[in-house]
Amino acid sequence: MSRPTVLRVPPLSPQLHAAVGDRYDALDLPTDADARAAFLAEHGGDVVAIVSTNGGRVPGDLIAALPRLGVIANQGVGYDNIDVPAALERGIAVSNTPEVLDDAVADTALALLLAVRRRVVVADLFVRAGEWSKGEFPLTDQVSGSRVGILGLGRIGQTIARRLQVFGCTISYHNRHRVPGVSHTYAASPAELARSVDNLIAVVPGGAATQAIIDREVLDALGPDGVLINVARGSVVDQDALVAALVEGRLGGAGLDVFAEEPQVPAELTTMDNVVLLPHVGSATHETRAAMRRLTLDNLASWLTDGTLLTPIPEMGR
Ligand code: NDP
Repeated sequence: MSRPTVLRVPPLSPQLHAAVGDRYDALDLPTDADARAAFLAEHGGDVVAIVSTNGGRVPGDLIAALPRLGVIANQGVGYDNIDVPAALERGIAVSNTPEVLDDAVADTALALLLAVRRRVVVADLFVRAGEWSKGEFPLTDQVSGSRVGILGLGRIGQTIARRLQVFGCTISYHNRHRVPGVSHTYAASPAELARSVDNLIAVVPGGAATQAIIDREVLDALGPDGVLINVARGSVVDQDALVAALVEGRLGGAGLDVFAEEPQVPAELTTMDNVVLLPHVGSATHETRAAMRRLTLDNLASWLTDGTLLTPIPEMGR
């Protein structure tokens, strides 16, 4: 019996790439635009499923070139890399990988907050450069007991909040809707939230609704003693405004896992010692990536078996 044809949209991890190849007739979408057009003309009619990750785009014209496409299984909880309206209009199912990455991303947010406030990276360089023998390292700012605002108190945001409670932090948040059953203070807007905290952590989804939701007004509300942590998407911050605020000393510091045009990082940021930069590794642990991979493959297998998904994206209804 012939196996379903599954299109792998790069980049996929070697493990996910191999696992799809073991189970299905797998094709790889070429990265070169000309090669891609010829490839789709030849193979587009065979493809019934896509496997993608946040780093690989699934735009409307790709979906349109795959007339038999029935499912997009995305490894990642965010799916702003996919043209979801184009998929749903065709009745194409879309899955993501919620919950299995909450702990890893929350750990990353805490690591960034501690690294920026306690100047962990700068202090490490200080020791390595032999500066310690010449004098003490300057004092830093405490995270424990500080006021932290969470923009996006969802699955990951609440996992971050639980960690911060152990640190004795005062937690407030902004979502479009209040979260029932939590005691954290609700702020009516991102600017109001920023105005009332020492540290602001962004963990909202990317996409049009949150594009530059952290703009100059929010950054100025956070102020010269404030720190921004972004483990959401680069698109949620006005990156030019962020760089300007840091250059002009209107913002105290930043810890960033995500950027507007990854893997490009504004050159100004790489020279600042009040900024910690990570290469989008929020969920990148062995344990979590294995769990994300399993859930992606299970969604794919489930859909191919009986047309259901374990974790459909919210727009599909659960
Ligand atoms: P959830 O859907 O559980 O939570 C998202 C939260 O954001 C909800 O509380 C939601 O509340 C709020 N929100 C959504 N839209 C808006 C808006 N326009 N304005 C204000 N608040 C909003 O998602 P997760 O916690 O699972 O994941 C959050 C995001 O984290 C992902 O979408 C992804 O982009 C990012 N992420 C980054 C990773 C990394 O490697 N750095 C890894 C994993 C995830 P409400 O609906 O009430 O507004």
